[in-house]
Amino acid sequence: MKKPVPTTPDDGGPEDHATQPLGSVGQAARLQSVPASLSNSEPAKASSAVRRTFTFTSAVTGEKVTATCMPGCTIDHEADSDTQHPHDIYCHIPGPASELPLFGPLCDTGSPEDFRFLSWQIQSHPFSGRPAERLPFVAIEAIDDHYIEYLDPDTLEMVISRLQQQVNSLREAHVQLVNLRTAYLNPPEVAA
Ligand SMILES: [Zn+2]
Repeated sequence: MKKPVPTTPDDGGPEDHATQPLGSVGQAARLQSVPASLSNSEPAKASSAVRRTFTFTSAVTGEKVTATCMPGCTIDHEADSDTQHPHDIYCHIPGPASELPLFGPLCDTGSPEDFRFLSWQIQSHPFSGRPAERLPFVAIEAIDDHYIEYLDPDTLEMVISRLQQQVNSLREAHVQLVNLRTAYLNPPEVAA
C-alpha cells in the first residue's frame, strides 16, 4: 500500500539542466514561490519549497518544453525526456487500493473475483486540451477500470457525501439484518 510522499524526490534529474524562462533569477524565484503566509491555511504538501521540473521535446512543435511537476508526484519523468505529445504528459499520486470479492458480468470465471473498489489517485495533465484536467484532480476507481474522473474539490465533496450516505445505510442494513436473523431463528410462540 503506497502513500503519497509530500517531499520532492531529490534524484538530481532533469531539474539540474532545465531551462528557466526567467533566466538567472529563475532559480531564486522558484525557491521562494510558496508565500509563507499560505503555510497556515494550506495542506503540508503545498508547502514544499522546490517544485521538480522536467524537460521534454514537444512532438507538435519540435521545441524543448519545461514542465513543472505536481508536488508529491511519483512519476519518473526521465521517461518523458524524449519526444512526447504534450497531451500525454501527466503527473500522478497513487492512493491506497482495496479489493472485495464480487460477482457479475465483469467476472471471467463465473465465480466471485477480487476487484479493486474506491481506490483513488490524484493526477494532473498540465498540457491537456481540457481545462478540467490541467489542475490536479482526483479520480476514484468505483470498481476495476470504472472511474469517476476529474473531481475538483467541490465535486469530490459531493461524491464523499453520497458514499457516506450509502455507508450509513449499510450500517442500517447491518442492524436490520441482525434483527431479522434473530427473529428468524427465534420465532415467537404462536398461540394455538
Ligand atoms: Zn510529475
